[in-house]
Amino acid sequence: MIQLYIPLNFLGVIYREIKQSLADMEKLFSLLDQNREVADAPDAQPLQTHGAEVRFNHVEFSYDPKRQILFGVDFTIAAGTTTAVVGHSGSGKSTLSRLLFRFYEVNQGSITIDGQDLRAITQDSLRHAIGIVPQDTVLFNDTIEYNIAYGKPGATHEQIVAAARAASIHEFVESLPDGYATMVGERGLKLSGGEKQRVAIARTLLKNPAILIFDEATSALDSKAEQAIQQQLKEIARNRTTMVIAHRLSTVADAEQILVLDHGRIVERGTHQSLLAANGLYAQMWQRQQASAEEVPGSPASDEEQ
Ligand code: ADP
Ligand code: MG
Repeated sequence: MIQLYIPLNFLGVIYREIKQSLADMEKLFSLLDQNREVADAPDAQPLQTHGAEVRFNHVEFSYDPKRQILFGVDFTIAAGTTTAVVGHSGSGKSTLSRLLFRFYEVNQGSITIDGQDLRAITQDSLRHAIGIVPQDTVLFNDTIEYNIAYGKPGATHEQIVAAARAASIHEFVESLPDGYATMVGERGLKLSGGEKQRVAIARTLLKNPAILIFDEATSALDSKAEQAIQQQLKEIARNRTTMVIAHRLSTVADAEQILVLDHGRIVERGTHQSLLAANGLYAQMWQRQQASAEEVPGSPASDEEQ
């Protein structure tokens, strides 16, 4: 009993931490199939996507019944378009992405993908349909090839190389002493923040999901590295339904839709131009960020540190 209890409990702790950070949840689910808090309905069907329109229908949510986090959140991400979610820290942005991944169940309302309620589809099919580029990619202590292939078990070497090329990391990998067989991660070669993020992008390209979630880096990257990565994120987002949680507003100015979240409610929505014209919270946040960008031209180049 005790021997069984300890490792399960230990995994539970990891589960909660990873759930919170949204990082590497795919790995987690393959390891911990039975530790899911949310169960498949007995008659759950695989998700069928045709473009992958995402809808949040009057969603109410709380982690703890005493404190409601989301209030009547209602929006649609049209198939193949990008919606950015902005708002102060703690406003509920990451919670939206956790609900879309069905880490938690909504209390009221519903979330649908192409009209299928998340509660009616299998979690495996849901998680196959969603790719996540997290803020801080954790690499496994294995080869770089394994780390990229993780997006698609059974991928061929050619497919892996193609994904690496598309993520602009192929040449870097080729320059390493053991190429794709180079060990990376905590006990191997340490990659910079930008290199790790490119590995995550290659992984996602290989996975080829219909829906993408980016939780943007706040971040350690210098502005040149950030621009390059933004460009790549835009490339993979093209024609996919994408939710971007944005800290720097300059990176989402061309999203088809921007939602402004404040204390769990959508208080403004529209395009960058229409939100500036509305002169509300978004316009305030934009002006503040523009001002601080002028004071501190470029953040320190710490791309090499992590
Ligand atoms: P954001 O991403 O906008 O910074 P979050 O969605 O992470 O905000 O969090 C919204 C609110 O929910 C915050 O007040 C946060 O403290 C709370 N919260 C987040 N995760 C949990 C959790 N696992 N249990 C209880 N409260 C949580
Ligand atoms: Mg967050």
